[in-house]
Amino acid sequence: MPLRALIRGGAKRFKEESLFCRRCHLKNSETETLFVVEKFFSIQGESSFVGLPCYFVRMAGCNLRCNWCDTTYSYNQEEATPFHIDTLMDEISSNEKIRLIEFTGGEPLLQMDPVLKMCRKLASNYQVLIETNGSISIKEFRRAPKNVRVIMDIKTPSSGMHDMMYWDNVKYLRPVDEVKFVVRNRDDFDYACEIVNKLSLNEICGLIISPCYGEIELPELAEWVLGQGIFFRMQVQLHKIIWGATKRGV
Ligand code: SF4
Repeated sequence: MPLRALIRGGAKRFKEESLFCRRCHLKNSETETLFVVEKFFSIQGESSFVGLPCYFVRMAGCNLRCNWCDTTYSYNQEEATPFHIDTLMDEISSNEKIRLIEFTGGEPLLQMDPVLKMCRKLASNYQVLIETNGSISIKEFRRAPKNVRVIMDIKTPSSGMHDMMYWDNVKYLRPVDEVKFVVRNRDDFDYACEIVNKLSLNEICGLIISPCYGEIELPELAEWVLGQGIFFRMQVQLHKIIWGATKRGV
């Protein structure tokens, strides 16, 4: 599908009011309970906060199925543990080492209500990152405090999910937010550049370009970035370089 048609609304997408996931059958109607696959303290690996100690909360369920997904275990509802938001707040506030918190997945915005509540509680004392796959509205975050930052994927063709993006999200991105493209080949890179240029994303927020781990030579991607001229931040999934590609909980 041509990009123009895609952006006009040709994409299959989740409506703002509908957070029912037909793939993993998750509908978290709980407003104060988060269904979590794992939580851990590690090194932030793929944003402008790369390298910093970060407390991760990996939420259960995802409405997409990217070809190169590295967290397929997050789809499984049976692996999820429910946590009341107060329990999670107590755990975080009792650990003085925690200053940066990331909600990731899976897709955390399938559990919008409790995630928003956690963000409101955390915003006064912590930097918060919400990593989302770009298929669900981020409208609720448009007036969030600046230390609650959305890191939104725009899926490239090799993911098989690029027609699932919720393009209205571009209206809701703020200068503190970040857009991330994971690329597997030159076609993905060219697609990312085309999207950035058509939507003037470089005038809206920070841009991250990340290689699909182990599938592109890093010098090659660096050459593409340097040759193109878009102000991408190239990042390399630092946690995988430190601990390997398959280790969980890091
Ligand atoms: S959006 Fe993320 S968790 Fe969901 S399938 Fe894609 S890579 Fe996996």
